[in-house]
Amino acid sequence: MSDSILEEVFIKRSQQKKKTSPLNFKERLFVLTQDKVAYYDYDYDKGKRKGLKGSVDIEKIKCVEVVIPEDNAPAERIFPFQIIYDEGPLYIFAKSDDVRKQWLHKLKHLVRFNKELMQKYHPCFWEDGMWRCCQQEVKQAMGCRVLETRNGVGKGLSKGSRRKSRKPLPPTPEEEKPTRPLPPQPPKQPKFSEGMTVIAEYDYAPMAPQDLELRKDEEYLILQICDANWFRAKDKYGNEGYIPSNYVVEALNGLEKFEWYCKSINRSQAENLLKTENKDGGFLVRDSGKYTGKYTVSVFTKASPQGPTCRHYNILINHQNQFYLAEKHCFSNIPELINYHQHNAAGLVSRLKYVISNRTQNAPSTAGLGYGVWEIDPRQLTFIKELGNGQFGVVKYGKWQGRHDVAIKMIKEGSMSEDDFIEEAKVMMKLRHENLVQLYGVCTKQRPIYIVTEFLSNGCLLTYLRENLQHPSPVQLLEMCKDVTEGMSYLESQQYIHRDLAARNCLVDSNGTIKVTDFGLSRYVLDDEYFSSVGSKFPVRWSPPEVLLYCKFSSKSDIWAFGVLMWEVYTLGRMPYERLNNTEIVDKVSTGYRLYRPQMANDKIYSLMMNCWQEKADERPTFQELVISIQDLLDNLY
Ligand code: ADP
Ligand code: MG
Repeated sequence: MSDSILEEVFIKRSQQKKKTSPLNFKERLFVLTQDKVAYYDYDYDKGKRKGLKGSVDIEKIKCVEVVIPEDNAPAERIFPFQIIYDEGPLYIFAKSDDVRKQWLHKLKHLVRFNKELMQKYHPCFWEDGMWRCCQQEVKQAMGCRVLETRNGVGKGLSKGSRRKSRKPLPPTPEEEKPTRPLPPQPPKQPKFSEGMTVIAEYDYAPMAPQDLELRKDEEYLILQICDANWFRAKDKYGNEGYIPSNYVVEALNGLEKFEWYCKSINRSQAENLLKTENKDGGFLVRDSGKYTGKYTVSVFTKASPQGPTCRHYNILINHQNQFYLAEKHCFSNIPELINYHQHNAAGLVSRLKYVISNRTQNAPSTAGLGYGVWEIDPRQLTFIKELGNGQFGVVKYGKWQGRHDVAIKMIKEGSMSEDDFIEEAKVMMKLRHENLVQLYGVCTKQRPIYIVTEFLSNGCLLTYLRENLQHPSPVQLLEMCKDVTEGMSYLESQQYIHRDLAARNCLVDSNGTIKVTDFGLSRYVLDDEYFSSVGSKFPVRWSPPEVLLYCKFSSKSDIWAFGVLMWEVYTLGRMPYERLNNTEIVDKVSTGYRLYRPQMANDKIYSLMMNCWQEKADERPTFQELVISIQDLLDNLY
């Protein structure tokens, strides 16, 4: 037997060979060698391996990937991964994300030359005879998500770390994609089902007559899942109507009902909020990163020797699956842990004295202004002030129904191919992500037509970088880039190509969150200067060689543009290749010339940018990989 490369006790899910066979979860000792993953019975007391229970040959593996955890997964099952081979998926649960990453990395490396690697996989579990992600009922059904890493080793961040492959990689999925976007898949978020009880995280005032009012913290029953964005629901008084799916969470989910839990807020936003409140012992609990299943307590203290400061403590889990901040004080759940530290500092800079919450301020945007509404009555719009002038004409800030903030693009006649856009708007309306500017609807019954979107009070990112950021912290700059990769990773998962990603097409929210806007819009521009790659308005400075030379757009050309956007962030909004004109850029970039390292970008950040500017499109990372790389860099800054 060859030497073991990794050994670890994991929980393994039974392989549910029949639709009706019950699932069980057992601890097994997994041993990875050069040619097998074997798992054994394990004697805890003696710490010894017992009988062999099963094994998978490395060469038979078709895919190794993470799995999205079950809803309400118990603490020991929040880091699942899958090994797919002939007999279907083997589901394994790691104790921590780090261990999972380590195994995935090794496994992907070992299987990278396998013959039957898959290009698509299922991101959720196979359960009770059905794939939870796409509801297909055939176990062999083709995966519903393109495999971002193509089973290869995660691309190295540094230049020159490219692997030498013995055989060519399978074709990049982008090359096979139609240019029209495919219908959207449900967004990456907890799954809901009909008959489930949910709790409102925010108030929602009905925007359309068939909508149901939501009151924060009250329970609602889901009657029908209409689409990923809207549910039909019933309140406790028996009223029925449509509700936005992103305003509710499953009841019993635990933390959502606590005021101190600020779900989607990152480190620099937490610091801003705590500093603004300026209360010694002010605290909140947030997700350590999106989809990591880990939590961080952020505390503000005025009593530190360095002056007022924020500290961040990760909530850890011990071998008995108890939660702790300080090893001596362990609890069976997070609310108990918080309750304890509200009374005892026990090693923290301060006891947790004041709950700080952002909950009431920022209800998220909904996909459209009410269920099924995408044509907006212009008489319900009030125009308040002009925000700027863009490719399609004037953009104004206003209110819808006198209450809801909106931005209104008034499309200058002759500047847009309107019918095509109106058709496309129906698809765009369904795209919803917290880092994308939400399209609310359109007014198409009059001229000029209007495009009505979410309003972001801090305006365009480029201006924000140039004018508002004096001494940005490394965390702040990196969080901005991460926001963009999160939104773009969602677009990538929907196989939607932006085509004009740049700082000028990102907007900044009141709390500093960055959202990407104008995705796909460039296809409807009627302006020769914009349309052709030799035109003066074509985004040459953000385009890779294959776009400049053959107009070949893909998610990989968006990646290139993202690299340039990162460069804009780290130069606080300089013009890329400022001394060169468009013709010189095309010449130089297609012969290997690249943007210089901005002073504020360290080597790791710059190699991330450079990786986006690989000459060959398929050697560039995916947005999903970038999210992970940036999260890793952020973790190391903490
Ligand atoms: P276009 O895409 O038609 O070229 P822009 O989107 O660039 O137009 O809009 C022009 C300006 O209006 C932007 O620079 C920005 O300052 C402002 N703006 C546009 N959309 C919004 C919005 N949703 N919220 C806040 N400001 C916006
Ligand atoms: Mg724009």
